[in-house]
Amino acid sequence: MTADATEGVFTTVTEVLADRLAHIQDRVVSAAALAGRALDEISIIPITKFHPESLIRELYALGVRDFGESRHQEARQKAVDLADLSDLTWHFVGQVQGKKARQVREYSRVIHSVDRLSLVEALAGGPVPTATFIQVNLSDEEHRGGAAAADVEVIAEAILAADGLTLEGVMAVAPLGENPRYAFARLREISDRVRRIDGSATAISAGMSGDFEDAILEGATHLRLGTAITGNRPVAG
Ligand SMILES: *Cc1c(COP(=O)(O)O)cnc(C)c1O
Repeated sequence: MTADATEGVFTTVTEVLADRLAHIQDRVVSAAALAGRALDEISIIPITKFHPESLIRELYALGVRDFGESRHQEARQKAVDLADLSDLTWHFVGQVQGKKARQVREYSRVIHSVDRLSLVEALAGGPVPTATFIQVNLSDEEHRGGAAAADVEVIAEAILAADGLTLEGVMAVAPLGENPRYAFARLREISDRVRRIDGSATAISAGMSGDFEDAILEGATHLRLGTAITGNRPVAG
């Protein structure tokens, strides 16, 4: 029997998703044990971009309450259509355009991708606190998403001074073409620098389907998992 046998025609979507969640949980448990870390400081945020609302409802029925999206139009529509699930928390993990910042703030309780001072200003002043992560560019390519490591302190200070924003910690995507463990080790050092400014900003949003064990070994607290949970994304229309 291969693992795929569990995905046969007589298996429901719910069973497939429950199975994947359980499998990921096992891998998180092993990686946390290897790292000597407590399990309760590691949370999984399913990333549901390109997937229909029905999939989010399936995961919700399995007990999932945190969901991540990366495209504003799609995320906003899902937040409206799923408003009946009132205890659901939306995380925004994609690039935020300055002129859309307030809209993103309206439905997202957590924004993982604050990467510049002008965005801090655009997001500030909301009626309910928005939790933020500073996204850091771990590659040497400037066009990649995220702030330069050298700018992180300035952005952290700005978030701490801003009304309506809280600072959770740092976020990054491992660059292609490098062992992700090394990249996440650099992120951990950047996280240490941020903690020196604000001792409570201890969160590290890192780790995707292909590299979350490496991220756990380097201190990740928020794993952003797409395909490992949802299966392949439908091709973008
Ligand atoms: C899509 C996405 C993920 C999830 O990616 P997978 O490789 O499918 O796990 C994580 N973080 C961000 C910023 C994303 O856009």
